[in-house]
Amino acid sequence: MSEDARDLWRPYANEALVRQVRGFVERRVAPAAHDIDARDVYPTELVRELAALGCNAICLPEAYGGRAEPYSSAVAVCEEVGYGSAAVAISLITIFQAQTIIRLFGSDSLKERYLPRFAGGLIASYALTEASHGSDIRTLDTKARREGGMWVLDGEKSFITSGSEAEFFVILAQTEAGVSAFAVPRESEGLTTYVGHNSATMGLRNGPHVNIRLQGVRLPLDHLIGEDGKGVRQAVTTLDYSRTAAAGISIGIARAAYDAALAFTANRVAFDQKVIQFQGIQWYFAEALARIDAARLLVYRAAEALDSHDDVMRYASGAKLIAAEVATDVASKAIQVCGAYGTMVNAPFSRYFRDAKTYEIGGGSSEVLKNTLAKYFLGFAGVR
Ligand SMILES: Cc1cc2nc3c(=O)[nH]c(=O)nc-3n(C[C@H](O)[C@H](O)[C@H](O)COP(=O)(O)OP(=O)(O)OC[C@H]3O[C@@H](n4cnc5c(N)ncnc54)[C@H](O)[C@@H]3O)c2cc1C
Repeated sequence: MSEDARDLWRPYANEALVRQVRGFVERRVAPAAHDIDARDVYPTELVRELAALGCNAICLPEAYGGRAEPYSSAVAVCEEVGYGSAAVAISLITIFQAQTIIRLFGSDSLKERYLPRFAGGLIASYALTEASHGSDIRTLDTKARREGGMWVLDGEKSFITSGSEAEFFVILAQTEAGVSAFAVPRESEGLTTYVGHNSATMGLRNGPHVNIRLQGVRLPLDHLIGEDGKGVRQAVTTLDYSRTAAAGISIGIARAAYDAALAFTANRVAFDQKVIQFQGIQWYFAEALARIDAARLLVYRAAEALDSHDDVMRYASGAKLIAAEVATDVASKAIQVCGAYGTMVNAPFSRYFRDAKTYEIGGGSSEVLKNTLAKYFLGFAGVR
Protein backbone atom coordinates (compact mmCIF):
# COMPACT_ATOMS: atom_id res chain seq x y z
CA MET A 1 0.00 0.00 0.00
CA SER A 2 1.46 3.42 -0.91
CA GLU A 3 1.87 6.07 1.76
CA ASP A 4 -0.87 8.08 0.10
CA ALA A 5 -3.33 5.19 0.12
CA ARG A 6 -2.80 4.75 3.86
CA ASP A 7 -3.58 8.41 4.49
CA LEU A 8 -7.10 8.65 5.86
CA TRP A 9 -7.07 12.42 5.45
CA ARG A 10 -5.48 13.12 2.09
CA PRO A 11 -4.76 16.81 1.53
CA TYR A 12 -7.43 18.82 -0.26
CA ALA A 13 -5.05 21.68 -1.10
CA ASN A 14 -1.38 22.28 -1.84
CA GLU A 15 -0.13 18.80 -1.02
CA ALA A 16 3.55 19.74 -0.62
CA LEU A 17 2.66 22.47 1.86
CA VAL A 18 0.35 20.16 3.81
CA ARG A 19 3.04 17.47 4.10
CA GLN A 20 5.52 20.08 5.32
CA VAL A 21 3.11 21.50 7.89
CA ARG A 22 2.09 18.00 9.04
CA GLY A 23 5.72 17.22 9.79
CA PHE A 24 6.07 20.43 11.79
CA VAL A 25 2.83 19.79 13.66
CA GLU A 26 3.88 16.26 14.57
CA ARG A 27 7.31 17.38 15.73
CA ARG A 28 6.59 20.71 17.41
CA VAL A 29 2.89 21.49 17.84
CA ALA A 30 1.22 18.27 18.97
CA PRO A 31 3.73 17.59 21.79
CA ALA A 32 3.09 21.10 23.19
CA ALA A 33 -0.71 21.09 22.88
CA HIS A 34 -1.59 19.71 26.31
CA ASP A 35 0.68 22.16 28.11
CA ILE A 36 -0.53 25.21 26.15
CA ASP A 37 -4.12 24.28 27.00
CA ALA A 38 -3.47 23.41 30.63
CA ARG A 39 -1.48 26.58 31.35
CA ASP A 40 -3.46 28.83 28.97
CA VAL A 41 -0.38 30.44 27.45
CA TYR A 42 0.21 32.10 24.09
CA PRO A 43 2.49 29.89 21.93
CA THR A 44 4.86 32.67 20.83
CA GLU A 45 7.73 30.44 19.78
CA LEU A 46 5.53 28.16 17.67
CA VAL A 47 3.86 31.12 15.97
CA ARG A 48 7.27 32.54 15.02
CA GLU A 49 8.34 29.12 13.74
CA LEU A 50 5.17 28.90 11.63
CA ALA A 51 6.09 32.31 10.20
CA ALA A 52 9.53 30.98 9.29
CA LEU A 53 7.79 28.15 7.41
CA GLY A 54 5.90 30.78 5.41
CA CYS A 55 2.50 30.06 6.98
CA ASN A 56 1.68 33.42 8.56
CA ALA A 57 1.73 35.39 5.30
CA ILE A 58 0.70 32.57 3.03
CA CYS A 59 -1.92 34.52 1.07
CA LEU A 60 -0.23 37.91 1.08
CA PRO A 61 1.21 39.16 -2.22
CA GLU A 62 4.90 38.48 -2.77
CA ALA A 63 5.54 42.24 -2.67
CA TYR A 64 4.73 42.07 1.05
CA GLY A 65 6.84 38.97 1.69
CA GLY A 66 3.92 36.58 1.26
CA ARG A 67 3.54 33.45 -0.86
CA ALA A 68 0.53 34.67 -2.83
CA GLU A 69 -1.21 31.33 -2.43
CA PRO A 70 -4.97 30.78 -2.78
CA TYR A 71 -7.05 30.85 0.37
CA SER A 72 -7.30 27.05 0.36
CA SER A 73 -3.64 27.04 1.48
CA ALA A 74 -4.47 29.21 4.51
CA VAL A 75 -7.35 26.85 5.32
CA ALA A 76 -5.09 23.81 4.93
CA VAL A 77 -2.53 25.33 7.30
CA CYS A 78 -5.30 25.98 9.85
CA GLU A 79 -6.62 22.43 9.44
CA GLU A 80 -3.20 20.85 9.93
CA VAL A 81 -2.14 23.07 12.82
CA GLY A 82 -5.61 22.65 14.35
CA TYR A 83 -5.07 18.89 14.21
CA GLY A 84 -2.17 19.32 16.61
CA SER A 85 -3.47 22.23 18.68
CA ALA A 86 -6.51 24.42 18.08
CA ALA A 87 -4.93 26.99 20.41
CA VAL A 88 -1.93 27.38 18.12
CA ALA A 89 -4.20 27.46 15.07
CA ILE A 90 -6.45 30.20 16.48
CA SER A 91 -3.29 32.25 17.01
CA LEU A 92 -2.95 32.19 13.21
CA ILE A 93 -6.59 33.20 12.74
CA THR A 94 -6.18 36.54 14.51
CA ILE A 95 -3.04 37.19 12.45
CA PHE A 96 -4.96 36.40 9.25
CA GLN A 97 -7.88 38.63 10.33
CA ALA A 98 -5.64 41.65 10.88
CA GLN A 99 -3.74 41.23 7.62
CA THR A 100 -6.90 40.48 5.61
CA ILE A 101 -8.72 43.67 6.60
CA ILE A 102 -5.62 45.75 5.83
CA ARG A 103 -4.98 43.92 2.54
CA LEU A 104 -8.57 44.36 1.40
CA PHE A 105 -9.33 47.85 2.67
CA GLY A 106 -6.19 49.60 3.96
CA SER A 107 -4.48 52.56 2.31
CA ASP A 108 -1.22 51.95 0.45
CA SER A 109 0.74 53.57 3.29
CA LEU A 110 -0.88 51.26 5.84
CA LYS A 111 -0.23 48.21 3.68
CA GLU A 112 3.41 49.14 3.13
CA ARG A 113 3.92 49.82 6.81
CA TYR A 114 2.35 46.71 8.33
CA LEU A 115 1.86 43.91 5.79
CA PRO A 116 5.57 43.07 5.33
CA ARG A 117 5.86 42.45 9.08
CA PHE A 118 3.54 39.43 9.03
CA ALA A 119 6.05 37.26 7.15
CA GLY A 120 8.46 37.97 10.00
CA GLY A 121 5.96 36.72 12.58
CA LEU A 122 4.06 39.85 13.68
CA ILE A 123 1.48 38.80 16.28
CA ALA A 124 -1.88 40.49 15.82
CA SER A 125 -5.36 40.59 17.32
CA TYR A 126 -8.71 41.64 15.93
CA ALA A 127 -10.85 43.49 18.46
CA LEU A 128 -14.52 43.89 17.75
CA THR A 129 -16.38 42.51 20.76
CA GLU A 130 -17.26 44.63 23.81
CA ALA A 131 -18.94 43.75 27.08
CA SER A 132 -22.29 44.90 25.65
CA HIS A 133 -21.75 44.08 21.96
CA GLY A 134 -20.99 40.53 20.79
CA SER A 135 -23.19 39.31 17.96
CA ASP A 136 -24.72 42.75 17.51
CA ILE A 137 -22.00 45.08 16.26
CA ARG A 138 -24.18 47.64 14.49
CA THR A 139 -23.11 50.23 17.06
CA LEU A 140 -20.19 50.16 19.51
CA ASP A 141 -19.42 51.82 22.83
CA THR A 142 -15.74 52.34 21.92
CA LYS A 143 -15.55 55.78 20.34
CA ALA A 144 -13.17 57.39 17.84
CA ARG A 145 -13.13 61.12 17.11
CA ARG A 146 -10.96 63.35 14.97
CA GLU A 147 -8.93 65.89 16.92
CA GLY A 148 -6.06 68.04 15.66
CA GLY A 149 -5.22 65.90 12.63
CA MET A 150 -5.33 62.66 14.62
CA TRP A 151 -7.88 59.97 15.49
CA VAL A 152 -8.46 59.59 19.23
CA LEU A 153 -9.89 56.31 20.59
CA ASP A 154 -11.56 55.70 23.96
CA GLY A 155 -13.31 52.57 25.20
CA GLU A 156 -12.85 48.93 26.07
CA LYS A 157 -12.83 45.62 24.19
CA SER A 158 -13.46 42.13 25.62
CA PHE A 159 -12.63 38.48 24.76
CA ILE A 160 -9.68 39.42 22.56
CA THR A 161 -7.92 36.29 21.33
CA SER A 162 -4.11 36.52 21.15
CA GLY A 163 -4.38 39.87 22.94
CA SER A 164 -2.02 38.80 25.70
CA GLU A 165 0.91 38.84 23.24
CA ALA A 166 -0.33 40.87 20.26
CA GLU A 167 2.08 43.47 18.94
CA PHE A 168 -0.56 44.98 16.70
CA PHE A 169 -4.33 45.35 16.92
CA VAL A 170 -7.17 45.99 14.52
CA ILE A 171 -9.78 47.77 16.63
CA LEU A 172 -13.33 48.67 15.65
CA ALA A 173 -14.78 51.85 17.09
CA GLN A 174 -17.76 54.13 16.60
CA THR A 175 -17.19 57.41 14.77
CA GLU A 176 -19.80 59.99 13.81
CA ALA A 177 -20.14 58.18 10.48
CA GLY A 178 -20.64 54.74 12.04
CA VAL A 179 -18.52 51.74 13.00
CA SER A 180 -14.97 52.09 11.65
CA ALA A 181 -11.77 50.03 11.77
CA PHE A 182 -8.37 51.25 12.98
CA ALA A 183 -4.81 49.92 12.92
CA VAL A 184 -3.38 50.26 16.43
CA PRO A 185 0.22 49.37 17.36
CA ARG A 186 0.54 47.88 20.83
CA GLU A 187 2.99 50.55 21.95
CA SER A 188 0.37 53.28 21.40
CA GLU A 189 0.17 55.50 24.45
CA GLY A 190 -3.12 54.98 26.30
CA LEU A 191 -3.52 51.33 25.22
CA THR A 192 -3.36 48.71 27.96
CA THR A 193 -4.50 45.13 28.17
CA TYR A 194 -5.56 43.24 31.25
CA VAL A 195 -6.78 39.81 32.22
CA GLY A 196 -10.40 40.33 33.17
CA HIS A 197 -12.81 38.25 35.21
CA ASN A 198 -13.98 36.52 32.00
CA SER A 199 -10.70 36.16 30.10
CA ALA A 200 -10.22 32.44 30.74
CA THR A 201 -12.24 30.28 28.35
CA MET A 202 -12.89 26.53 28.55
CA GLY A 203 -11.54 26.01 25.02
CA LEU A 204 -9.30 27.64 22.41
CA ARG A 205 -6.97 28.56 25.25
CA ASN A 206 -4.06 30.38 23.60
CA GLY A 207 -3.54 32.66 26.57
CA PRO A 208 -6.24 34.70 28.28
CA HIS A 209 -8.73 36.39 25.95
CA VAL A 210 -7.91 39.77 27.38
CA ASN A 211 -9.66 43.10 27.68
CA ILE A 212 -8.15 46.08 25.87
CA ARG A 213 -8.55 49.49 27.49
CA LEU A 214 -8.21 52.54 25.23
CA GLN A 215 -7.73 55.87 26.97
CA GLY A 216 -7.15 58.76 24.57
CA VAL A 217 -5.17 56.60 22.12
CA ARG A 218 -3.96 58.93 19.34
CA LEU A 219 -3.45 57.57 15.83
CA PRO A 220 -2.35 59.16 12.54
CA LEU A 221 -5.25 59.73 10.14
CA ASP A 222 -4.09 56.99 7.77
CA HIS A 223 -4.56 54.42 10.56
CA LEU A 224 -8.26 54.40 9.74
CA ILE A 225 -8.66 51.19 7.71
CA GLY A 226 -10.82 51.73 4.64
CA GLU A 227 -13.74 54.09 4.77
CA ASP A 228 -15.01 55.96 7.81
CA GLY A 229 -18.32 54.40 8.86
CA LYS A 230 -17.94 51.27 6.70
CA GLY A 231 -16.45 49.10 9.45
CA VAL A 232 -19.38 46.69 9.76
CA ARG A 233 -19.25 45.83 6.06
CA GLN A 234 -15.46 45.48 6.21
CA ALA A 235 -15.69 43.36 9.36
CA VAL A 236 -18.28 41.06 7.80
CA THR A 237 -16.11 40.61 4.69
CA THR A 238 -13.07 39.86 6.87
CA LEU A 239 -15.13 37.42 8.94
CA ASP A 240 -16.01 35.46 5.79
CA TYR A 241 -12.29 34.73 5.46
CA SER A 242 -11.65 34.00 9.13
CA ARG A 243 -14.80 31.87 9.48
CA THR A 244 -13.61 29.67 6.64
CA ALA A 245 -10.19 29.30 8.26
CA ALA A 246 -11.87 28.63 11.62
CA ALA A 247 -13.92 25.92 9.92
CA GLY A 248 -10.61 24.43 8.82
CA ILE A 249 -9.52 24.32 12.46
CA SER A 250 -12.75 22.55 13.39
CA ILE A 251 -12.00 19.91 10.74
CA GLY A 252 -8.52 19.51 12.23
CA ILE A 253 -10.03 19.00 15.71
CA ALA A 254 -12.55 16.46 14.38
CA ARG A 255 -9.83 14.52 12.56
CA ALA A 256 -7.61 14.48 15.64
CA ALA A 257 -10.44 13.20 17.85
CA TYR A 258 -11.31 10.58 15.24
CA ASP A 259 -7.75 9.30 14.85
CA ALA A 260 -7.09 9.17 18.59
CA ALA A 261 -10.34 7.29 19.25
CA LEU A 262 -9.68 4.89 16.37
CA ALA A 263 -6.21 4.09 17.73
CA PHE A 264 -7.57 3.53 21.25
CA THR A 265 -10.50 1.32 20.27
CA ALA A 266 -8.32 -0.72 17.90
CA ASN A 267 -6.28 -1.78 20.95
CA ARG A 268 -8.75 -1.86 23.81
CA VAL A 269 -10.23 -5.30 24.48
CA ALA A 270 -13.68 -5.97 25.99
CA PHE A 271 -15.65 -9.22 25.90
CA ASP A 272 -12.69 -10.95 24.19
CA GLN A 273 -12.49 -8.65 21.20
CA LYS A 274 -11.19 -5.26 20.23
CA VAL A 275 -13.68 -2.49 21.00
CA ILE A 276 -13.52 -1.41 17.33
CA GLN A 277 -14.83 -4.88 16.36
CA PHE A 278 -18.24 -4.19 17.89
CA GLN A 279 -20.56 -3.16 15.10
CA GLY A 280 -22.24 -0.58 17.34
CA ILE A 281 -18.88 1.14 17.79
CA GLN A 282 -18.03 0.91 14.08
CA TRP A 283 -21.24 2.80 13.31
CA TYR A 284 -20.01 5.77 15.35
CA PHE A 285 -16.84 5.84 13.27
CA ALA A 286 -18.64 5.31 9.96
CA GLU A 287 -21.00 8.20 10.59
CA ALA A 288 -18.21 10.45 11.85
CA LEU A 289 -16.10 9.71 8.77
CA ALA A 290 -18.94 10.61 6.43
CA ARG A 291 -19.74 13.78 8.37
CA ILE A 292 -16.14 14.96 8.52
CA ASP A 293 -15.79 14.29 4.77
CA ALA A 294 -18.94 16.31 4.04
CA ALA A 295 -17.90 19.22 6.25
CA ARG A 296 -14.38 19.18 4.85
CA LEU A 297 -15.67 19.39 1.27
CA LEU A 298 -17.81 22.38 2.24
CA VAL A 299 -14.86 24.10 3.92
CA TYR A 300 -12.70 23.85 0.79
CA ARG A 301 -15.68 24.93 -1.33
CA ALA A 302 -15.82 28.05 0.85
CA ALA A 303 -12.10 28.67 0.28
CA GLU A 304 -12.71 28.40 -3.46
CA ALA A 305 -15.59 30.88 -3.17
CA LEU A 306 -13.30 33.36 -1.43
CA ASP A 307 -10.76 33.11 -4.24
CA SER A 308 -13.38 33.46 -6.97
CA HIS A 309 -15.43 36.05 -5.01
CA ASP A 310 -18.53 34.04 -5.78
CA ASP A 311 -21.24 33.12 -3.26
CA VAL A 312 -18.86 33.75 -0.37
CA MET A 313 -21.44 34.44 2.33
CA ARG A 314 -23.29 31.18 1.64
CA TYR A 315 -20.28 28.91 1.79
CA ALA A 316 -18.24 30.68 4.50
CA SER A 317 -21.20 30.76 6.90
CA GLY A 318 -22.27 27.22 6.03
CA ALA A 319 -18.74 25.88 6.41
CA LYS A 320 -18.23 27.30 9.90
CA LEU A 321 -21.71 26.29 11.03
CA ILE A 322 -21.33 22.68 9.92
CA ALA A 323 -17.64 22.15 10.66
CA ALA A 324 -17.95 23.42 14.25
CA GLU A 325 -20.99 21.25 14.94
CA VAL A 326 -19.42 18.17 13.35
CA ALA A 327 -16.25 18.69 15.40
CA THR A 328 -18.22 18.91 18.65
CA ASP A 329 -20.20 15.80 17.78
CA VAL A 330 -17.14 13.79 16.74
CA ALA A 331 -15.22 14.86 19.87
CA SER A 332 -18.19 13.90 22.04
CA LYS A 333 -18.50 10.46 20.41
CA ALA A 334 -14.73 9.99 20.68
CA ILE A 335 -15.03 10.39 24.46
CA GLN A 336 -17.88 7.88 24.48
CA VAL A 337 -16.13 5.10 22.57
CA CYS A 338 -12.98 5.43 24.70
CA GLY A 339 -14.89 4.86 27.93
CA ALA A 340 -13.25 6.14 31.11
CA TYR A 341 -10.02 6.89 29.24
CA GLY A 342 -12.00 9.31 27.10
CA THR A 343 -12.83 11.41 30.16
CA MET A 344 -9.36 11.61 31.65
CA VAL A 345 -7.59 14.91 32.00
CA ASN A 346 -4.40 13.34 30.68
CA ALA A 347 -6.18 12.14 27.52
CA PRO A 348 -6.67 14.70 24.72
CA PHE A 349 -10.41 14.17 24.25
CA SER A 350 -11.73 16.78 26.66
CA ARG A 351 -9.47 19.35 24.98
CA TYR A 352 -10.87 18.38 21.58
CA PHE A 353 -14.40 18.67 22.93
CA ARG A 354 -13.83 22.02 24.69
CA ASP A 355 -12.07 23.51 21.64
CA ALA A 356 -14.75 22.25 19.26
CA LYS A 357 -17.65 23.51 21.38
CA THR A 358 -16.04 26.91 21.91
CA TYR A 359 -15.83 27.31 18.14
CA GLU A 360 -19.63 27.05 17.94
CA ILE A 361 -19.55 30.53 19.51
CA GLY A 362 -16.22 32.32 18.91
CA GLY A 363 -15.85 34.12 15.58
CA GLY A 364 -19.60 34.02 14.90
CA SER A 365 -22.06 31.84 16.79
CA SER A 366 -24.05 29.11 15.04
CA GLU A 367 -27.22 31.16 15.47
CA VAL A 368 -25.70 34.22 13.82
CA LEU A 369 -24.43 32.05 10.96
CA LYS A 370 -27.94 30.65 10.49
CA ASN A 371 -29.28 34.22 10.38
CA THR A 372 -26.75 35.01 7.66
CA LEU A 373 -27.83 31.97 5.67
CA ALA A 374 -31.47 32.91 6.18
CA LYS A 375 -30.80 36.37 4.74
CA TYR A 376 -29.25 34.63 1.73
CA PHE A 377 -32.06 32.21 0.94
CA LEU A 378 -34.83 34.69 1.75
CA GLY A 379 -33.33 36.83 -1.03
CA PHE A 380 -33.96 33.94 -3.43
CA ALA A 381 -37.54 33.68 -2.20
CA GLY A 382 -38.01 37.39 -2.84
CA VAL A 383 -38.65 37.98 0.88
CA ARG A 384 -36.86 40.76 2.75
C1 LIG B 1 -12.95 31.76 22.56
C2 LIG B 1 -13.47 33.07 22.08
C3 LIG B 1 -12.63 33.92 21.41
C4 LIG B 1 -13.08 35.16 20.98
N1 LIG B 1 -12.19 36.00 20.35
C5 LIG B 1 -12.60 37.22 19.95
C6 LIG B 1 -11.70 38.14 19.33
O1 LIG B 1 -10.53 37.84 19.14
N2 LIG B 1 -12.16 39.35 18.96
C7 LIG B 1 -13.44 39.71 19.14
O2 LIG B 1 -13.79 40.81 18.77
N3 LIG B 1 -14.33 38.87 19.74
C8 LIG B 1 -13.94 37.65 20.14
N4 LIG B 1 -14.83 36.78 20.74
C9 LIG B 1 -16.19 37.20 20.94
C10 LIG B 1 -17.16 36.46 20.02
O3 LIG B 1 -17.03 36.87 18.71
C11 LIG B 1 -18.54 36.67 20.61
O4 LIG B 1 -18.57 35.91 21.81
C12 LIG B 1 -19.63 36.16 19.68
O5 LIG B 1 -19.74 36.99 18.57
C13 LIG B 1 -20.98 36.08 20.42
O6 LIG B 1 -21.23 37.25 21.12
P1 LIG B 1 -21.69 37.22 22.67
O7 LIG B 1 -20.78 36.29 23.37
O8 LIG B 1 -21.75 38.62 23.15
O9 LIG B 1 -23.09 36.59 22.64
P2 LIG B 1 -24.46 37.39 22.48
O10 LIG B 1 -24.41 38.24 21.27
O11 LIG B 1 -24.82 38.00 23.77
O12 LIG B 1 -25.44 36.17 22.19
C14 LIG B 1 -25.91 35.28 23.21
C15 LIG B 1 -26.66 34.15 22.54
O13 LIG B 1 -27.72 34.68 21.76
C16 LIG B 1 -27.57 34.28 20.41
N5 LIG B 1 -28.00 35.36 19.54
C17 LIG B 1 -27.54 36.64 19.49
N6 LIG B 1 -28.17 37.33 18.53
C18 LIG B 1 -29.06 36.47 17.96
C19 LIG B 1 -30.00 36.59 16.91
N7 LIG B 1 -30.16 37.72 16.22
N8 LIG B 1 -30.74 35.49 16.58
C20 LIG B 1 -30.59 34.32 17.24
N9 LIG B 1 -29.70 34.15 18.26
C21 LIG B 1 -28.94 35.21 18.60
C22 LIG B 1 -26.11 33.98 20.24
O14 LIG B 1 -25.85 33.11 19.15
C23 LIG B 1 -25.78 33.34 21.57
O15 LIG B 1 -26.19 32.00 21.55
C24 LIG B 1 -14.41 35.53 21.19
C25 LIG B 1 -15.27 34.64 21.85
C26 LIG B 1 -14.82 33.43 22.28
C27 LIG B 1 -15.76 32.50 22.98
